[in-house]
Amino acid sequence: MSARVLTSIVNGASVSGGEARPDVNPSDLTDVVAQVSGAGPEVARAAVAAAAEAFGSWSRTTPWQRAEVLDRAGSEVMARADELGDLLAREEGKTYPEARGEVVRAGQILKYFAGVALAPHGLALDSVRPGIDITVTREPVGVISVITPWNFPIAIPAWKIAPALAFGNTVVFKPADLVPASAWELVDVLNRAGLPAGVLNLVLGRGSQVGPVLTGDPAVAGVTFTGSVATGRGVLADTVARGAKAQLELGGKNPLVVTDKARLDAAVECAMQGGFGSTGQRCTASSVVVVTDGIHDVFVEAMRQRMSAWRVGDARATGVDMGPVVDESQLAVDLRYIEVARTEGADVIGGDVVSTGASGHYLAPALAIGTSVTHTINREEVFGPVVAVIRVADYDEALAAANTSTMNLSAGICTADLAEASHFKRNSKAGMVMVNLPTAGVDFHVPFGGRGESSVGPREQGTAAVEFFTTTKTSYTSPGTP
Ligand code: NAD
Repeated sequence: MSARVLTSIVNGASVSGGEARPDVNPSDLTDVVAQVSGAGPEVARAAVAAAAEAFGSWSRTTPWQRAEVLDRAGSEVMARADELGDLLAREEGKTYPEARGEVVRAGQILKYFAGVALAPHGLALDSVRPGIDITVTREPVGVISVITPWNFPIAIPAWKIAPALAFGNTVVFKPADLVPASAWELVDVLNRAGLPAGVLNLVLGRGSQVGPVLTGDPAVAGVTFTGSVATGRGVLADTVARGAKAQLELGGKNPLVVTDKARLDAAVECAMQGGFGSTGQRCTASSVVVVTDGIHDVFVEAMRQRMSAWRVGDARATGVDMGPVVDESQLAVDLRYIEVARTEGADVIGGDVVSTGASGHYLAPALAIGTSVTHTINREEVFGPVVAVIRVADYDEALAAANTSTMNLSAGICTADLAEASHFKRNSKAGMVMVNLPTAGVDFHVPFGGRGESSVGPREQGTAAVEFFTTTKTSYTSPGTP
């Protein structure tokens, strides 16, 4: 059977581009999920123009109209969780339970922002001058470019697009090249749920070609971007240079501290799930585990045993713990970091390319032991199933090691000691802190984001979303009589 052809969607209509490229299943390279009709700058410009045209009427819809669309879309996404989860696992390579969970999360996010559309966001207060009333209202920003990475193909787009629409903005959405099918489905669901043409446009083009339009077109009022630090820097420069709003969620180097006071089995579970869940391809992955001296050896031994039983295979097969790496170039990056760790003196447990019989990018989870904060593997984001262990004398050294990260997205501690947990929460440099939990795994109704090089601009999700997706207006009213 020939693969379906995916096109961009501009002003409610399919738009074919020039170059066609295959969307390949990383679990089985002979399986083509779809053919993608790639878009160039002219399609991106048309999408921005359509969003600008649609803004006038969409921004004047009632919150109830916007809430209804988001709620309907959320219901459909959740009702189709099995099918969309299968598509996501096939396209991106996380296991089916992980992929299905992500789809359900996207549905929850759409429904949450349906409620947010109806929530109060303004202020009414007295002036410091007698007789004058002040209101602070929240207005939509305008056309928002949404640029997303491949590792959460439906949840990240949902948590950007849903608040954009809830507050009355219009959207041009550019997903990552590796995951066009999940993105297409999300846009299709939202459009059929009742969005007028032009409110949400999809551009299936390469970042290098369509990116400059999405960040530089004067009609784009804001850019929300999730991706690597390197790409994000360019996006930021283009966007703020012309005075538009920017929100960036970038890389993460997330330490998980395990102290002598931890429960061993719980700590191992946190490190396994945090480090190797979703093949370690999460910005919040626990990629550095800082372990105090008294528990270090038993912890490493327990990890070795858990890793040897960790089943790597086709993302959609039952009983698989970890799917493939997303593509050939990411696999090469993972292998290079493993090699660099060895060269710098680490012992690496696992980390071999796995042959499963299928033609996929399979890598066994890797644990580099005997590393220090100065090792390359602890300073750079790997974005694969590669975790490094740093041995320290005590909790104070562990906190110091954890705080050497410059991409401070998430940090965790495993301990049964309340004093250690409280101290860590107060003194971690990360934007999100987990106690007796993996560094990955967050809720949608609270702020999400990091510090340092990890985030720029207002936080995403939850009550924080209003900051980026609206602009305030402060109005003063006098009764007009002296
Ligand atoms: P990437 O930076 O390569 O690409 C991200 C997006 O930017 C893609 O859609 C890409 O096509 C687009 N792009 C590329 N060049 C562009 C340009 N010149 N202008 C505009 N857009 C352009 O990232 P990736 O490989 O897709 O994703 C992995 C990265 O994403 C990791 O660094 C990871 O930590 C990060 N990430 C961060 C978070 C977070 O919330 N902090 C969440 C998930 C992923």
